[in-house]
Amino acid sequence: LSVVLVVGLDNGATVNNATVADSSGRFLVEEMVESPSRVQEGSGAGVEAIVSSFEDVIARIGVKSEQIAAVGLGSPGPASAAGVLSSKGATNFGHPSWRGFDLRGAVEERLGLPVTYINDGNAAALYAHQVFFGDEAPQRSSVSVVVGTGLGGGVIEWGRVVKGATGTAGELGHVHVPTEDILASGQPLPRCNCGFRGDAESLASLSGIENNLLPYWLSRFPNHELAAVSPLSRAARMLRSYAEMGDEMALRIFEQQAAALGAVLTIASNVLDPDAYFVGGGVVQAGESFRDWFLRRVRAHTRLRAEAAEVAKIEIVPDLDMAGARGAALAALEELRG
Ligand SMILES: [Zn+2]
Repeated sequence: LSVVLVVGLDNGATVNNATVADSSGRFLVEEMVESPSRVQEGSGAGVEAIVSSFEDVIARIGVKSEQIAAVGLGSPGPASAAGVLSSKGATNFGHPSWRGFDLRGAVEERLGLPVTYINDGNAAALYAHQVFFGDEAPQRSSVSVVVGTGLGGGVIEWGRVVKGATGTAGELGHVHVPTEDILASGQPLPRCNCGFRGDAESLASLSGIENNLLPYWLSRFPNHELAAVSPLSRAARMLRSYAEMGDEMALRIFEQQAAALGAVLTIASNVLDPDAYFVGGGVVQAGESFRDWFLRRVRAHTRLRAEAAEVAKIEIVPDLDMAGARGAALAALEELRG
């Protein structure tokens, strides 16, 4: 009896995470299997670290590489659908050797196995979809947003990732939102790292807090403790703990993030009318009462038609730490099934 196995690898800025799944989509590794990603050292060290991560995880479950049918590889973008990193560089791949680098091709050549590439937002979206719908996944559609340094996400239709012509479909972070409904009077139009002003990521991301929300709200709350914290990137990372304690300024900021997410999900509902919406990221990995408040506020800001509101669910992306590797494994299985 031969069992088809696939490996899922999530290539992060500092660590790689790996998992193994069988052909039914069951995961054979329960825990995180992490190793240093060495991405900052450049493409040579980075690819070798991915190979080590693959070898570690198959050794963990006691199988040989000949027993692996395919590999799913996820990483932050921007990258093409074929897994070639942007020639303009990418936040997580600062070393010049990564520019225009064929990450998928290099890993495929080194492992001697078919490698399917998926961006990390799409991987998390695919995993959330599979967990939530189970056997019904192939009949369902969903939209995911994942709040991190940026705002990632993905669109799943008939259980499959919508990739688009160039692999950049589902970039919900760079969809413009109606800022006139979200910003306070006199609040400057927020700027995104992509060059747009007033898109969802310019508000609903850690960089949106650092570059746009915190500077404005500290001008309104000049005596706030965070006004004395530098650099601003550190203050931005501390903000969530203030929100968890019920701090007024922090809650105003997260209210604006919830409004931006609700706005982008409203746009998604009008374009796609999906069965479910998933929200992931640090903001919903927080303490239970803040997390529940935040999800309630996202729901309140998501304006669905009555018919859609009756069927659609707005839920959390589960097991976010493992969602990238697990989603990558599911993408490899999808590719095997053709
Ligand atoms: Zn943007």
